[in-house]
Amino acid sequence: MTEKHNFPFPIADLDTEQYWAACNRDELRIQQCNGCFLYRFTPGPVCGECGSSSSKWSKMSGLGKLTSWTVVTHPIHPAAIARVPYIVAEVELQEQAHLRIITNLLDSQPEELRVGLPVEVVFQSHPSGQKIPQFRPRR
Ligand SMILES: [Zn+2]
Repeated sequence: MTEKHNFPFPIADLDTEQYWAACNRDELRIQQCNGCFLYRFTPGPVCGECGSSSSKWSKMSGLGKLTSWTVVTHPIHPAAIARVPYIVAEVELQEQAHLRIITNLLDSQPEELRVGLPVEVVFQSHPSGQKIPQFRPRR
């Protein structure tokens, strides 16, 4: 497989470098405001709730529930040809209501999916070396 057929991979910036570094340690860490203590995703320099610019990276349980999904059947990137169909999912982490991330759902079939399905994080290595958080149903 040539480089052009690898999935695009995330490029860390100042707001996301600690998130991606944690993934490489098999840890899901989410930015948490030091002012109001709310978690927020995606990461950013300022809390949208209280305006504080102070935050920390808190380790999550990796557990959550499925809130929405779509089944991708048309490969929009050459690297996706061998992967379709695959499931793009919205997962709400158990630590906070409405704390949701967009991810891929692995090891599942579309007909078994339902809102509220318990899921857990797993980390997959991208050819770049970066680990990517994905989810799968809890069995
Ligand atoms: Zn805040």
